[in-house]
Amino acid sequence: MEDYRVKPHQKIDLAKDCDPNDYGEWKGKKAKGVARLTELRAELDALQQVLYAEHQHKVLVLIQAMDTAGKDGTIRAVFDGVNPQGVHVASFKVPTQIEADHDFLWRVHAQVPAKGELVVFNRSQYEQVLVVRVHNLEPEKEWRKHYQQINDFEKLLTDTGTTILKFFLNIDLDEQKQRLLERIDTPEKQWKFSPGDLPERKLWWQYMEAYQEAISQTSTEYAPWHIVPANHNWYRNLVVAEVIVEALKKLDMHYPQAAEDLDQYKKELNEEVIEKKEN
Ligand code: AMP
Ligand code: MG
Repeated sequence: MEDYRVKPHQKIDLAKDCDPNDYGEWKGKKAKGVARLTELRAELDALQQVLYAEHQHKVLVLIQAMDTAGKDGTIRAVFDGVNPQGVHVASFKVPTQIEADHDFLWRVHAQVPAKGELVVFNRSQYEQVLVVRVHNLEPEKEWRKHYQQINDFEKLLTDTGTTILKFFLNIDLDEQKQRLLERIDTPEKQWKFSPGDLPERKLWWQYMEAYQEAISQTSTEYAPWHIVPANHNWYRNLVVAEVIVEALKKLDMHYPQAAEDLDQYKKELNEEVIEKKEN
């Protein structure tokens, strides 16, 4: 799974070097992969409980992708077994008026995890160097500055106890077409189809250029990107879950020290007599 991690300043050619159909060592092992995901969910649930109890570390999982690549599906599949009290998902849409009146990190900073929290970003600060670039919403001179601004922001977060894991779910143009057609043909999925998805799709290669430069400029030792093969949902989910679980294990978290004299309290409880109050 480490193969999908992008090294700092590594040049990327998404079309050439990153196969959305890749299965790594799991080719032909879908049933095993699905079973492994079930194990990983249980591990994630256990790790999240210690994260919360220890109240020291902060975890930020950030997901970016083209339409239909499975941002929502990945979040559902990977975090399915986790206590909803411990996880929060923040989705970033077209900025509201008040958001647009501030700097682009204002709304993002407001959603970062506090001690003991795990936050998932569904889209993120990176939209400012993706959609903003592709649609010329800011001049190049402005959006180019955001790479360094984002790196500095992420450095601040990691310096203050945040583990950041960034994922780009990589599908290809054909797969997107199939998925859009499936949305149109499936009554329960039609709501997900937006006519605006088609003009966006025509900008596919501009988006790929924006993604590969953004990933290359902002994959750092402290906040690495992972380019996840995402044409096959089960493998995509497996990669994301595996990377998160590995990273959380490395934090070496522990439950806080128990109260002293537990035996004394146990004795007290076993011997207690609580009188019923007479009316
Ligand atoms: P969805 O995730 O499908 O609900 O769509 C959210 C939309 O918000 C996408 O089209 C994003 O490109 C757009 N969006 C998110 N952040 C920004 C931003 N900073 N500037 C402009 N558009 C954005
Ligand atoms: Mg959409």
